[in-house]
Amino acid sequence: MIHVLLLQLPVPRLNYGVQTGNIPLGAGCLKLAAGMIPQVQVDILPESIASYLGDAALIDILTARKPDIVGFTVYCWNLQRSLFFAKKLKESYSPRIIFGGPEITADNSLLDSDRLDFLVYGEGEAVFRHLLQDQKFWQKQRAAQPAGAIFKNSPSPYIQDLLEPEIENMVLLETQRGCPYRCGYCYYNKSHKGVSFADEALLLRGIQWAIDHEVRELYLLDPSLNVRPGLKNLLKKISVMNKERRLAIISEIRAEAIDAQLADLFAAAGFCWFEIGLQSTNPRALQIMNRPTHIERFAQGATLLKKRGIVPAIDLIVGLPGDDLQGFSRSVEFVLENNLQDDVQVFPLSVLPGTDFRLRSKELGLRFEKSPPYTLVENPSFCADDMLMAFDHAEARLDVVLYPMPDLDVSWKLGRKNTAANAPDIAVKIGNQRYAAKVQLNDNRPVSELKSLAKRLTQPYQIFIHPGFSDSDAVKTAIEVLSAANPFTPFEIVFLEPRQLPHTPSILFAAKLQRPHFLDQDLRYLFPREGNRAVLFTLVSRDTRRRFNRDMQRQVFWWKKNRLPQIKDLAELSGLDGIMIDTAGSDIELSKWQDRFAGRAEDIPFISFADVLLQRRWLMLTMPDDYVRQALNWVQD
Ligand code: SF4
Repeated sequence: MIHVLLLQLPVPRLNYGVQTGNIPLGAGCLKLAAGMIPQVQVDILPESIASYLGDAALIDILTARKPDIVGFTVYCWNLQRSLFFAKKLKESYSPRIIFGGPEITADNSLLDSDRLDFLVYGEGEAVFRHLLQDQKFWQKQRAAQPAGAIFKNSPSPYIQDLLEPEIENMVLLETQRGCPYRCGYCYYNKSHKGVSFADEALLLRGIQWAIDHEVRELYLLDPSLNVRPGLKNLLKKISVMNKERRLAIISEIRAEAIDAQLADLFAAAGFCWFEIGLQSTNPRALQIMNRPTHIERFAQGATLLKKRGIVPAIDLIVGLPGDDLQGFSRSVEFVLENNLQDDVQVFPLSVLPGTDFRLRSKELGLRFEKSPPYTLVENPSFCADDMLMAFDHAEARLDVVLYPMPDLDVSWKLGRKNTAANAPDIAVKIGNQRYAAKVQLNDNRPVSELKSLAKRLTQPYQIFIHPGFSDSDAVKTAIEVLSAANPFTPFEIVFLEPRQLPHTPSILFAAKLQRPHFLDQDLRYLFPREGNRAVLFTLVSRDTRRRFNRDMQRQVFWWKKNRLPQIKDLAELSGLDGIMIDTAGSDIELSKWQDRFAGRAEDIPFISFADVLLQRRWLMLTMPDDYVRQALNWVQD
């Protein structure tokens, strides 16, 4: 029997328990494609495990299971971590390693690794079947083969119970593969020659399954839903199935293709949100990126959706070749003039492998980061300062925060008995094991104990340094040991009323993180200096003077009074980054306070509770769509 394990690693985050969107749909399709091949067992590492564990804990799971073949779905956000896992697995017991997914392209030099046995370009199903049935096929080392009828005739992996819709409360459904357009920054059109469409009856079965299972959202993974033949008939059928609108449907579309009839049909079928790429209104930029756009028709189409209560979420790109700061500002004004600013997303240009822009990067003068997500540094008409100014301008004009600080969660105790002096680590239960999410440093911890702790950390994790513990060497040792085993796992250090202001550069020096980390590149517009964007520092203190606000630093007030804060108190503390409520009150009083203030959470400072259960309740009241309740399954370690 050949054992195959498929996994997909998530986008790195600085908040534990947030939704990651890391749904292993590709793995589900591969398992279906492997179907009844004799003597082959294909497993998928569940999202609930893959998304929330640190490097060492995940590698331990993989090496304990010892699959013969490990297949990674690779995106720009998990490429380097996947390569690290491949190295560790090869060192441990040398399984065969397959890499597939959008990041696997012939021009991606980061894939030049002798640890990878096979690279799959584009769709994976047909190649995967070959690899499982033909030993000689492995000698090719790389291949591209269209999935063809396998894709068209496959049911949704959810129907076969291969995925966990409850994690995100969402179902993903592919209605087509490929794209008829040829945008210069996009790889999608290249991974698939032409466009193929999933069978309508199977699609409708998938949608009915989502309705029957009371899933809240359905994401139709189409880059341009408008090109599907028979779309209007399909929408009419969906509107009958979803007549009570229990399922909220979201997708992507070209706005110019929308007329009043199509907009009516989308609304009747239960669509509530469309991602719509505008990217730019600059004619020269649109021409260079090969994305002809009729600007007036774009505005009309997006407005037709909006009038029917469907949010048109407009995407803009900063740093396009042929564009400049003025051109970008005009694109922002176009969005405002047409009242389309409800949900604008602004991205820096990523010069992705496999795209025309990557191929023509020298000719176009694109200078970009060599590691994912390959963010543009500058081009001949957009210097590095202009890039920064474009984000500032967009934030000011659109009244949005494009790079928010991570959510505030500095909860560190479970129950009221724990004090800072005796608090044990706080863990979560994932797959019947306990994994430490909140590590306490209130005394010297032996290196052997830290090493064993390092093997069972979540992603991300927090380290709490308690009052009175001022052995900076011991702190650095702990950080070094934990991060050395988890070089790709971001973490937060929380200093609870330290005697002196923490010296963060020396702590960063001790951290053995991969540099540059994906977050160093991804959050380059949050703070200017790379090298520390995967480590967040939070000072919790009763001192109201602002003392800790440099890059990746925030300062939170420790509310220990024997009463709960009122509006006046919250206003007085609004100059800080938040308030940690750690007061002796009954759970009933605290819950009442939460119920009273949850509706005003956006107008008061960020709040965290010291108790993890109260914090979970607060998160579920104020950000129920952002956090995964099952992941916040707190236990004492
Ligand atoms: S950006 Fe969208 S429309 Fe353009 S090629 Fe890619 S998938 Fe197609």
